[in-house]
Amino acid sequence: MYESGRRGGAGLRVFAVWIAAVALGALQCGCSGGKRETSPPSTSRPTKRAASPAAMEKIRAGVGEANLIVIVLDAARADHCGAYGYQRDTTPNIDALFAESIVFEQAYTQAPNTKASIASLFTSQSPTTHGVIGMTVALPPSTPTLPQVLSENGFRTVCLSANPFLSSEFGFERGFDEFQDVFREVNLPANELGSVPAELLGKAATSWFQEHAEERFFAYLHFLEPHDPYTPPEPFASRYRGNERLSKMMAAYDGNLAYVDSVVGEMLSALERLGLVDKSVIVLMSDHGEAFGEHGRLGHVDTIYEETAHIPLAIYLREACGVASGRRSGIISTIDLMPTLLDMFGIEPPPTMQGRSELGVLASEGAGQRRYAVARSRGRDKTGGLERPEEVIYALIAERYTLMLGNKGKRVELYDRERDPGEKDNIADESGKLVAELMRSFEEWAETQATRPVVLPGGEVRASQSPEVEMSDRTRDHLKALGYLK
Ligand SMILES: [Zn+2]
Repeated sequence: MYESGRRGGAGLRVFAVWIAAVALGALQCGCSGGKRETSPPSTSRPTKRAASPAAMEKIRAGVGEANLIVIVLDAARADHCGAYGYQRDTTPNIDALFAESIVFEQAYTQAPNTKASIASLFTSQSPTTHGVIGMTVALPPSTPTLPQVLSENGFRTVCLSANPFLSSEFGFERGFDEFQDVFREVNLPANELGSVPAELLGKAATSWFQEHAEERFFAYLHFLEPHDPYTPPEPFASRYRGNERLSKMMAAYDGNLAYVDSVVGEMLSALERLGLVDKSVIVLMSDHGEAFGEHGRLGHVDTIYEETAHIPLAIYLREACGVASGRRSGIISTIDLMPTLLDMFGIEPPPTMQGRSELGVLASEGAGQRRYAVARSRGRDKTGGLERPEEVIYALIAERYTLMLGNKGKRVELYDRERDPGEKDNIADESGKLVAELMRSFEEWAETQATRPVVLPGGEVRASQSPEVEMSDRTRDHLKALGYLK
């Protein structure tokens, strides 16, 4: 039942995880004698009271027959939202929703690019497992997806997407009764295709909600903003100012974020008028962040530091769930959303999921089950198809520390996010014990990636099941307009 088998894209991609190479890196990482050792390893979590089964049951009962609405703002970084302490008033409408929701302070994406990130959201698998990494790779047809499972459990499912990577061409329509590639509907010349305005998606979503208000549905809405080009309409275009290139760029990005926030605000008001807010669970998040010169980068895709890994995430629950709005400080990964949502809706989860239900974290302020999240980027690899293993960067993000592994594990970086939130000071050299402990966690994680077996040194490489597809000219034009293709 989970087949789709469409799109006969040939060609298998290959990739390798370089566990042993990483372990070698641990030895090379300069656990050099005589240097200061950063002591207390701290992948362990503070002890907090766990949620009672009754509290979780109350959420399930409160959710009942609710709808599910997932709203994604492409490339919105957490620290540029008011709810995460930003000094500019970029997100008043989102902040208002977050004030009535459960807000995750340490939510992390699986990958700093749309396709891999949303493939993880839809399958609850890491990019290493689902393999949707290269530019032309589509969702593996045999892996159950969130829309598919919800559809099989009686939800009417709809997707409205403004991002050409999240398209039917790449297999993302599977499980949706209706799939609107909103970006295809705009009649723009090729060089302006990057500017599909949020209003278009907001209006299409609002009219869909009006038509289907009486049905039980899952709606997935993927806005392109604040993703570049940062060209919002007035008054947002000139709302913020910068003095030099980077601060001007950031001001334009913030304007774009404020613009999509206003559209989301209008859409939420429409949902309220239709009586749908109280009939729905609403998730608002981004798929990854955006860099503005941090670690020498602009945009996203090739690094996985905080600016691209840390995302805003909140879940709005109906009053009947009996949970007061509030904040949760533990680590959560986007692969945990599918299991958490299915648990909440009382739906049997497919066995392919790698995330875990964090319903208990929603139910109380207790710590979650997750000790760390792993994210990965393709580094500077611009080949589009096959990936060069030496370019892959993994980030193991624990409660306080982030371990970064690049160049087949030979490049090791360690950051103390509590002391150094900008991840500027690499303390790997003086923190041998901690690096070794986190490295063990990484190996433990790698062991769980069994569906795409880990490749050990000697070069054995197994093929991913993710098919490659031929892109249409129109999709190529869209991706060029967004700067992904030349
Ligand atoms: Zn994206």
